[in-house]
Amino acid sequence: MLEIKNLHVKLEDEDKQILKGVDLKVEAGKVHAIMGPNGSGKSTLSYVLSGRDGYEVTEGTASLGGEELLDLEAEERAALGLFLAFQYPVEIPGVGNMTFLRTAVNAQRKARGEEELSAGEFLKVVREKAKTLKIDADMLKRPVNVGFSGGEKKRNEILQMAMLEPKMCILDETDSGLDVDAMKLVSEGVNALRDAGRGFLVITHYQRLLDHIKPDVVHIMANGRIVKTGGPELALEVENNGYADILAEIA
Ligand code: ADP
Ligand code: MG
Ligand code: MG
Repeated sequence: MLEIKNLHVKLEDEDKQILKGVDLKVEAGKVHAIMGPNGSGKSTLSYVLSGRDGYEVTEGTASLGGEELLDLEAEERAALGLFLAFQYPVEIPGVGNMTFLRTAVNAQRKARGEEELSAGEFLKVVREKAKTLKIDADMLKRPVNVGFSGGEKKRNEILQMAMLEPKMCILDETDSGLDVDAMKLVSEGVNALRDAGRGFLVITHYQRLLDHIKPDVVHIMANGRIVKTGGPELALEVENNGYADILAEIA
């Protein structure tokens, strides 16, 4: 599904290397988690994959379903089925949430060569999915994320994800700033999307999210590289001992 090889990334307008040879392969149907100390490059990895400006790939490749990603525009990557749930979801004043979702869904369907959903069909699907995420009609009508609480924004990200039915979902610290109930809702939303044809990359600081979204594989990222890979027990090790032991081991 997602295959990253020897990825090196620097900041575009600064001589700062952030990713220093990331290798990662996420298979369809699997949930991979990435943990790691602050500043290790986790968010940069997700930004670069999604096509955000400001970064320069100096070496390496990344592909989705065999298609090279790094030469594509952000919209083209989305059309291929890549979705990134941001650590800080953006507010879009003046654009209603429902309008935004419908535009995004229909653009996605068009890119896949599918017919647009009618207004009625769209409403039915969005209401159903919103309900499971406890997103009420009022939140659907308001401008995207404007004035939403932290938890509401994250739930709204998961709603976007559920509507777009991506092949590869990347969640960057979707748990940060969430209370226990909101984290459960978000996790349930993610778990409902787990599917043999879909891969997940879940970036998180805390093991507790991984109690709800059980990963198949856990990676530790430090200083711009994946330095250790293991099963769910690796997340527990981090929770109990922090990163010091792992970093000492690889030093
Ligand atoms: P993480 O998500 O693991 O905490 P980040 O990817 O956010 O790490 O950051 C990795 C490193 O790159 C940090 O040292 C951060 O300060 C730096 N960095 C990332 N983006 C920028 C930027 N746009 N300008 C300056 N420094 C940046
Ligand atoms: Mg950070
Ligand atoms: Mg980050």
